[in-house]
Amino acid sequence: MPRVLIVEDEGGIVELVSIHLRHAGFDVAVAGDADRAQALVDEALPDLVVLDWMLPGRSGVALARRWRTDPRTRELPIVMLTARDEEVDMVTALDAGADDYVTKPFSPAALLARIRAVLRRRAPQVLDEVVQVGTLMLDPATRRVTRLVDGRSEEVKLGPTEFRLLHFLMTHPERVHSRAQLLDRVWGDHVFIEERTVDVHIKRLRESLSIVQCAGLIETVRGAGYRLSAQGLPQVA
Ligand code: CA
Repeated sequence: MPRVLIVEDEGGIVELVSIHLRHAGFDVAVAGDADRAQALVDEALPDLVVLDWMLPGRSGVALARRWRTDPRTRELPIVMLTARDEEVDMVTALDAGADDYVTKPFSPAALLARIRAVLRRRAPQVLDEVVQVGTLMLDPATRRVTRLVDGRSEEVKLGPTEFRLLHFLMTHPERVHSRAQLLDRVWGDHVFIEERTVDVHIKRLRESLSIVQCAGLIETVRGAGYRLSAQGLPQVA
């Protein structure tokens, strides 16, 4: 369930947006100002922030700029809300590091569409969308992983951690991920686990994938980490 933090001081908007997001299957947290938002983000990173420009005290733009300079929050997806629609303000919002913006008044459906688009681009592993790499398919909704062989689909049985690991790697293919990055993105940040734990789960994942001849999907990149590459899949005859 994707976790969204709404940072907004106008109760009406908070209520409208929360209801729609919860209805769409999101987990919602709310902060009425920048300091409260920072405190919540310090506790646990949300998957996306809906950030209002005009807040009591520090503005949404100042907060977005601060998050972009901190390595921990640099990649945090942000959709900015703005009451003004002068072009200069949109440029300011995007310059501050917002991924997208919505101008008030807006329809909740339009905001939801923007949120989904940003997540699809920045954090596709939090959405319940089917992912496919070559002949391997992963369905987050049913938690099934299957490989199509000769028109038949063979199921791959995975433990919960291996499933999340594969889901993350399949939604971010062809890129090298360090063990620390995988711990942050798959296990959650603020989780203090030895990096060797990643190796243990990668090994288990490869063992499960080898049953459907897909162990080569996950490459070890010496001194760097792991990469999922479609080139490691057996070619379809
Ligand atoms: Ca406001």
